[in-house]
Amino acid sequence: MVYLVGAGPGDPGLITVKGMDCVRKADVIVYDRLVHPALIAEKRPDAEVIYVGKAAGAHSMSQDEINRLLIEKARQGMLVVRLKGGDPFVFGRGGEEAEALAEAGVEFEIVPGITSAIAAPAYAGIPVTHRGLCSALGIVTGHEDPTKARSDIKWSSIATGLDTIVFLMGVENLPKIVAELVKNGRDPSTPVAVVRWGTRSEQQTVTGTLANIVDKATEAGISAPAVTVVGNVVNLREKLRWFDNKPLFGKKVLVTRSRDQAGVLSEALREQGAEPIEFPVIRICPPSSFDEVDAALDRVAEYDWLLFTSANGVGSVIDRLAELGRDVRSLAGPKIGAIGPATADSLARLGLKVDYVPSKFVAEAVVDEFPENPVGKRILILRAEEAREILPERLAELGASVDVVAVYRTDIESSDTVRVKEMLSSGEIDIITFTSSSTVANFVKLIGESGAVCLPDKVKIACIGPITARAVEECGLRPDIVAEEYTIRGLVAAIRVALSA
Ligand code: SAH
Repeated sequence: MVYLVGAGPGDPGLITVKGMDCVRKADVIVYDRLVHPALIAEKRPDAEVIYVGKAAGAHSMSQDEINRLLIEKARQGMLVVRLKGGDPFVFGRGGEEAEALAEAGVEFEIVPGITSAIAAPAYAGIPVTHRGLCSALGIVTGHEDPTKARSDIKWSSIATGLDTIVFLMGVENLPKIVAELVKNGRDPSTPVAVVRWGTRSEQQTVTGTLANIVDKATEAGISAPAVTVVGNVVNLREKLRWFDNKPLFGKKVLVTRSRDQAGVLSEALREQGAEPIEFPVIRICPPSSFDEVDAALDRVAEYDWLLFTSANGVGSVIDRLAELGRDVRSLAGPKIGAIGPATADSLARLGLKVDYVPSKFVAEAVVDEFPENPVGKRILILRAEEAREILPERLAELGASVDVVAVYRTDIESSDTVRVKEMLSSGEIDIITFTSSSTVANFVKLIGESGAVCLPDKVKIACIGPITARAVEECGLRPDIVAEEYTIRGLVAAIRVALSA
């Protein structure tokens, strides 16, 4: 079985639900140049991936070779996903591949995608049709060989017969396209936009008219891949621009949290227009031993307070209870405190009422704002193995009787270090985010040379709070941005403020 799947125009969120299902279940994925790497990352760990696009300096696979490859893999009984940029049937040669499969008697399905012809203008704030401005839209190849004696494009009809014309593959041919349109009667004052890398954080847009767009595009150094939009709808960009004016537009931000937790930060960054690059450096693991955890879980009713210091701690306790054939009822008795809103949220989602959340999410504030006199109170702190001692120490100093149990530990994650090192040294990454001291330590272990990290000047380091910032300083780095509210939202807000300053 072969699925010809449209991967969408670039933004990895713009693949269809069905397309994503195909990627996740494929035995083999055959993809080309314009497919975003984040989509390939969704593959099954054991899936085979074959790149058939043009590699720098190397030759790309011919269409015949690609067709043969698809047929051969399908005949081996594999579930093949042929992943193509945009829509497979819009200048994607998907039709030819489907023909070859049909002729070979190989079963196939087409999963349409969002074409760049519509999406790149949309992300530039240009609707390709608009009431009163455009009632006929055309999508035209700009790739025709300019030395060809006769054009297959009916310039005399399209130049004036279509209100909006979108050219794909046409940047190199822009002078010829413009000349043909004007020669065939289109008004030279017609607005034109060229959108490069539409829907991605690299998106770049140049606007002008048929009379001056060639000069403007050359001046801006626009090269492929780009779409060219011709028509009065281009003027709407001024009013409808929404993507490339977001506060963090175009910024690439490294997210070092664990794989499971990265999503929340990535999403918050994306909302502000940034492109998150997930590089998990920590991994949440079970504690070295469950002896103390199990003993503590048997004694829960003896405590006045249970304090959770992270959502990971909550998850670990629930997982362990399940392994023991128990559930949240085993936490009955003591009041429950959470060190921050994310921790409180994960408790609330279990149906547990949270009795205390401090206003600042560091150990010092947890102690200062504690809602009861700690003298004589029995407190159980459930936290990571490698946590700071300050919280239990301060509570004990104030007269509480404190037990500390490590319910999980963090370990170093093995990530794509080579790629991230390259992105850092080439200046591609604008900001590095740290959400805990352990992410700082592990980042230095993974990226550093003999314990030190050398970063280009333009790279800014953003920390979730002062403790993490101190860890950054201790590694010889400079924390440029420190959140005032020690949450993910606070971190993203601080980055936004710092960059607009
Ligand atoms: N099937 C694809 C088009 C493939 S032809 C689709 O439906 O989008 C390749 C051309 O598509 C490029 O030369 C460029 O003109 C356009 N293109 C693809 N992705 C693009 C993007 N993100 N931004 C601008 N143009 C893009």
